[in-house]
Amino acid sequence: MTMNSQGRPSTPAGADSAVPETVTGNRGLQIEEALIFEQDSPGMSGVDLPAVPATPLRLGAVKPRGRVGLPGLSEPQVVRHYTRLSQKNYSIDTGLYPLGSCTMKHNPRLNEKMARLPGFGDVHPLQPVSTVQGALELMDALAHWLKTLTGMPAVTLAPAAGAHGEMAGMMAIRAALEHRGEAGRTRVLVPESAHGTNPATAAALGFSVDPIPAGPDGRVDLAAMEAKLGPDVAGIMLTNPNTCGLFERDIRAIADAIHGAGGYFYCDGANFNAIVGRVKPADLGIDAMHINLHKTFSTPHGGGGPGSGPVVFSEALAPFVPVPYVVHDANGFRLVEGAQVENGGQGTEVGRMKAFHGQMGMFVRALSYILSHGADGLWQAAGDAVLNANYVMARLQDTLSASFEGPCMHECLFDDRFLKGTGVTTLDIAKALIDEGFHPMTMYFPLVVHGALLIEPTETESKAGLDQFILALKSLAERAKEGDVAYFQGAPRLTPRRRLDETAAARKPVLRWTPASEPALAAE
Ligand SMILES: *Cc1c(COP(=O)(O)O)cnc(C)c1O
Repeated sequence: MTMNSQGRPSTPAGADSAVPETVTGNRGLQIEEALIFEQDSPGMSGVDLPAVPATPLRLGAVKPRGRVGLPGLSEPQVVRHYTRLSQKNYSIDTGLYPLGSCTMKHNPRLNEKMARLPGFGDVHPLQPVSTVQGALELMDALAHWLKTLTGMPAVTLAPAAGAHGEMAGMMAIRAALEHRGEAGRTRVLVPESAHGTNPATAAALGFSVDPIPAGPDGRVDLAAMEAKLGPDVAGIMLTNPNTCGLFERDIRAIADAIHGAGGYFYCDGANFNAIVGRVKPADLGIDAMHINLHKTFSTPHGGGGPGSGPVVFSEALAPFVPVPYVVHDANGFRLVEGAQVENGGQGTEVGRMKAFHGQMGMFVRALSYILSHGADGLWQAAGDAVLNANYVMARLQDTLSASFEGPCMHECLFDDRFLKGTGVTTLDIAKALIDEGFHPMTMYFPLVVHGALLIEPTETESKAGLDQFILALKSLAERAKEGDVAYFQGAPRLTPRRRLDETAAARKPVLRWTPASEPALAAE
């Protein structure tokens, strides 16, 4: 196997590969090419620019140290390079993407069309308010429907992702505690089945994180939670449905207990797609909850687009909603900013979460999704998401080991007991699944079970698509049980790259190309 100058394996085929090696290293129409810097032909250019006039440098200490070092390439070389890179992507537009907790579902193209309307796509956040009345009205309408779907009285659209929403919610909780003169409440209860961003958010804000164990049914152990309550508890951060794909049955009792102890209830609502249109979070006693527009309301995410994590607030936290938010009066729509304190001071404590008002393109897509589905459509989408996950669960539970009994919500959780004694791991199964043409499921998360495989098919997959995925997983599980360890350890075989050292890639990423002749410059 040849390596590139960065020590990366540059040819996909290995000695044990069943696929023949080719002279070029290409595999059919999958082209193997050098890094763009290695394709450099000094002096080559795709454009014809006039010579730079000689002018004295006035940059002082920041004057250039040498050549910038861009590779010389023709236009077709550049076009091909980036087109080929784009073809190495796996996306929801190419196939099933069963990444549990991430809700990789189809984004209807109608939403894209709406987001590209010039009145939404071409506006600038610094435009005079009188020229963006439609965009503000759209934000107001989205805020209205998010409040309606959750039953909550206040919302901020600003947060740029789910984790950012958690931060907004927990900052509002802290502001409310300070307002009550109880800033000494610094402990946050976080169930073990919570998403990892929950304890991270609490810790980032200076709270101490107190874990609550999961019961044998994968849900919060109510008695263990009650035993942790005390006068220093700020609140609880609970994910519902939780990351085991289960609805927290005791959620009302949990809300009553935390309120009884003087704390607030933050709910991670990233999995709202499982219950939207069916359950109003306000009825569950929640004080703050983020909604991932890029999950529940299908706006693209991952490599495909930015996230957006609006947060809804209860009556108790509504006075602490961050700015800006849209108001409507006789003069039309406008944003309430930090300095314009209105509604009895609403918005001053937490302030702004980010520059401007949030992810406009996501607001358009989400509202388009909500309005085109309607109440009955959202109700059905949640039901179909749960149905699809239960179909996968039911078809696979005899082959894989389901972690918890009974039906699941929008995702189903398996652990690695079915691999016991085979020498094959969860990671091996995931790698072999890539050869079968599927993006792997979420692995080794949640941490409450060993070697987790968390599958979220979403409602936008057909039965035929799910059947193929199930067939692939079943055959891999059987192969593992037959003891074909070498097959798994060699996977993936059909990808542009074989199995990489993922730990080294995460811990010591090589993010910069180093020209062989100028090591000192590149190391800076
Ligand atoms: C996705 C997710 C988050 C984080 O959302 P981001 O937009 O990725 O920051 C938090 N909690 C749960 C349960 C999630 O699924």
